Amino acid sequence: MEPATVEPKFPTIGSSPQGVDSANPFEEMMSRFDLAAQKLGLDPGLYKVLREPVRETKVSIPIAMDDGRIEVFIGYRVLHNIARGPGKGGIRYDKNVNLDEVRALAAWMTWKCAVVNIPFGGAKGGVICDPGSLSRAELEKITRRYTAELMDQFGPEKDVPAPDMGTNPQMMAWIMDTYSMHARHTVTSVVTGKPLSLGGSRGRVEATGRGLMLICREAAPLRGLTLAGSRIVVQGFGNVGSIAARMCHEAGAKVIAVSDIAGGIVNEAGLDMAALVAHYEKARSFEGFPGISRITNTELLELDTDILIPAANENQIRGKNAGNIKAKIIVEGANGPTTQKADEILNRNGTLVVPDILANAGGVTVSYFEWVQDRAGFFWRESEVNERLEDIMVQSFRDVASMAEKYNVSFRIAAYMLGISRVAHDTMVRGLYA
Ligand code: NAD
Repeated sequence: MEPATVEPKFPTIGSSPQGVDSANPFEEMMSRFDLAAQKLGLDPGLYKVLREPVRETKVSIPIAMDDGRIEVFIGYRVLHNIARGPGKGGIRYDKNVNLDEVRALAAWMTWKCAVVNIPFGGAKGGVICDPGSLSRAELEKITRRYTAELMDQFGPEKDVPAPDMGTNPQMMAWIMDTYSMHARHTVTSVVTGKPLSLGGSRGRVEATGRGLMLICREAAPLRGLTLAGSRIVVQGFGNVGSIAARMCHEAGAKVIAVSDIAGGIVNEAGLDMAALVAHYEKARSFEGFPGISRITNTELLELDTDILIPAANENQIRGKNAGNIKAKIIVEGANGPTTQKADEILNRNGTLVVPDILANAGGVTVSYFEWVQDRAGFFWRESEVNERLEDIMVQSFRDVASMAEKYNVSFRIAAYMLGISRVAHDTMVRGLYA
């Protein structure tokens, strides 16, 4: 019998499902990518090139646990695009890490680096684990083995990791050390988000939160507000959320509610952020903080506020709750917190959504500064870092705003259009190697 021939299926612009309200971040990313590609009139061949990750790697991480048991953790690294420079993107430690999530996060890094016009492509990594239940020794073993497995893929000119949810500067130091031991010399620029004494940059820890505050300041006048005096609600109280809340408070805004995974707290008169941060650092919870009422994360997102900063994880604002959101402006600290279905509802209701790939780009921007400083072996003052960060965030906000106006699209689609057009242009200029 003749073997059946299988026609290859090539993706075409507009073939991704639209109006998605999905738990799959890759579908969410592709639905926006398609809309932006259509608006740009992107060449169908370039569309195929830009949607496919360059490489996806799965690694097995066998570890002897503290009690002597052997466990095997699974890790991923996706290199999405390197047309404009080495891959760049964080490593996430979380129970829910999966390949589709890492793939979406890697693509978002490609567009994000292009939106803020820094010379990096996009990448992302993750390990399926619950970092809160692991000892320091176990976390160190996981981090070192993950790095060793990816030794050939990481490198200052190839793919440069950074922190994300569940990872921190100490883990970046272990990555730097493991890579350096294999390379037989110290390579600080292989990873960013390191401790200051090991080639870290001043201002890196605060960079994502500072960038969010700057974006709140730039966006506020578009809804007749000023940041000083605006009411702010922040979901997530980790690196991004706690620092964004503190910086907005220091800029004169009134932070009325914050939350972590256990739930939220609210004080309509405004939270004393310095006291709250000090309390949280000690207690690792909001429990026992005076003058607050407890609310759920669902209630928090629906509070009457000027600006809402979701800074936890994906898919928090969906079809089912978007209609209840009262914020005039949403500034996305997390990656992918809003589904496409929710975007449609928010746009209809006149809510200004400043998308993740612009709003939270402060982190990767200062990661870029860290990489530059490591390679030069010359370190900048914090004021220099912050000034350069402000220049880039303000310019990028203006670039996206004028794209939105020119094409009469949302800020999200405008940001995708800006990022995609830059990557597409550079891909064309380089040409296809074959
Ligand atoms: P983190 O681990 O420091 O903090 C995460 C916070 O979110 C914690 O307070 C946790 O309790 C809370 N949280 C988790 N799940 C939640 C839920 N379902 N509801 C409410 N709160 C929840 O992580 P981070 O570095 O602050 O990252 C937060 C988000 O920002 C992620 O989406 C990450 O990809 C994105 N991001 C981080 C950076 C960075 O520089 N760290 C840069 C850009 C974007």
